[in-house]
Amino acid sequence: MDFKNLVAHCKEYGFIFQSSEIYDGLSAVYDYGPYGVELKNNIKAYWWKSMVQMHENIVGIDAAIFMHPKTWKASGHVDAFNDPLVDNKDSKKRYRADQLIEGYAEKIEQKINKDVEKAREKYGEAFDEAQFRATNGRCIERQKQIDAILARLGAAMKAGDMEDLKAQIEEYEIACAESGSKNWTEVRQFNLMFNTQLGNIAGEEGKLYLRPETAQGIFVNFLNVQKSTRQKIPFGIAQIGKAFRNEIVARQFIFRMREFEQMEMQYFVRPGTEMEWYEYWKAARLKWHKALGTDDRKLRYHDHDNLAHYANAAVDIEFDFPFGFRELEGIHSRTDYDLTQHQELSGKKLQYFDPEQNENYIPYVVETSIGCDRMFLAVVSNALTEETVPDAEGQESTRVVMKIHPALAPVKIAVLPLLKNKEALTETATLIYNDLKKHFNCQYDEKDAIGRRYRRQDAIGTPYCVTIDFDTLEDGTVTIRDRDTLEQKRIKTEDIYNFVQEKVSFESLLG
Ligand code: ATP
Repeated sequence: MDFKNLVAHCKEYGFIFQSSEIYDGLSAVYDYGPYGVELKNNIKAYWWKSMVQMHENIVGIDAAIFMHPKTWKASGHVDAFNDPLVDNKDSKKRYRADQLIEGYAEKIEQKINKDVEKAREKYGEAFDEAQFRATNGRCIERQKQIDAILARLGAAMKAGDMEDLKAQIEEYEIACAESGSKNWTEVRQFNLMFNTQLGNIAGEEGKLYLRPETAQGIFVNFLNVQKSTRQKIPFGIAQIGKAFRNEIVARQFIFRMREFEQMEMQYFVRPGTEMEWYEYWKAARLKWHKALGTDDRKLRYHDHDNLAHYANAAVDIEFDFPFGFRELEGIHSRTDYDLTQHQELSGKKLQYFDPEQNENYIPYVVETSIGCDRMFLAVVSNALTEETVPDAEGQESTRVVMKIHPALAPVKIAVLPLLKNKEALTETATLIYNDLKKHFNCQYDEKDAIGRRYRRQDAIGTPYCVTIDFDTLEDGTVTIRDRDTLEQKRIKTEDIYNFVQEKVSFESLLG
């Protein structure tokens, strides 16, 4: 399904609304509706189960959003959490200079892809894409061009060379997408942290930041957690919580928001063992995504070409969103940078005594960091499908179905009396519903023809519907319908719980 329809579907079916919509909305801020909050909670529960509860040596915390302002000085966010900002003087639109340049490189890549597709059509079955890319003169030339553009961009970003970014925009003759104008301001650094003010202290002294990542709440609590839980290295601390970034360009729905939620885990390890753990978490996190049944071709690793100054290895897990492959999750080896910084600025020792080595040291950290909202978007875009299926009368009809893994589905089961004006049916259905709702998020629906009710459940991804008909009254069986296969079978009322529980449990995902 294309992106526009996906966004419309999310609104129509109560997954996601624009924030403050009646006031024309607040850009890059979204509210989760009744089904959205269920799905989001299930994503968080899957993450928490597999990261925290499945590991004896990983524990959770829930740190406050506000932190002492020195935290952000120590972490480097005050001085370096910037994006390069450029304004178009004619349209007054703001852009990230690096994204403009990346967009230019992407256009060249699209040309390569076009050539590849043309060749594929021409050569048919015999076509070898890798060989074509490696030997076709025009492809090679264009790829070289892309590599050079990205290398120069990377170098300028790393050096914080705003002048060179401006020079690149001019050299490539990049125009504003809105106005077509090439009339740009200078490129300047823009800090992404939101700030606010403490009530009882005036001026700079009372300046507070809304956290731009959850990780720092974990670093500053590292010893509190270690001592109170008597963890031995290696061990991890995990957290799910809100983060805020004043993104310059916030497009693409919930992919890039100004208020969002992160699920992060910092794993504290003995220095020198970090690469081992980096490889471990890199594999573990990809497995977590694949367990949901996501098409293998939609997930890939992307190694960072330019490492942040504190990292000695970093990789993204990218997902093929409706607008292309983009970062979904990051796995970073952060060395002892953060803890060392906090130790210096706070003057408090943040060292761990290793009883096996009989020495004190500042641990190294490997982190896994995923945006809950991006995961939501990945799940929905992977699941939302438009397809042709036979309807109740056996005629072909199209349906929109959200093929979400049952463990994540917002509603697990819908209870549907075949007819709404037959009291015996609605009474029995209500009894079944009242029992099931203790165990699962359920829906009772008696309105409209059964086919329409099925379609409504398909659209929100309900994996099972049970129908109560006259046979139910005779023999205590119901029809249970599978969302994906459309298979319907009769099972005993008392077996519904076990049948559904097995399918919607996280167990199958945890390996
Ligand atoms: P990007 O390059 O896309 O801005 P990032 O590299 O700055 O992302 P990290 O700082 O590594 O992102 O944050 C970890 C995760 O948090 C990302 O993988 C992403 O899933 C999520 N995330 C970051 N920024 C946003 C945002 N503005 N909106 C939604 N999710 C976000």
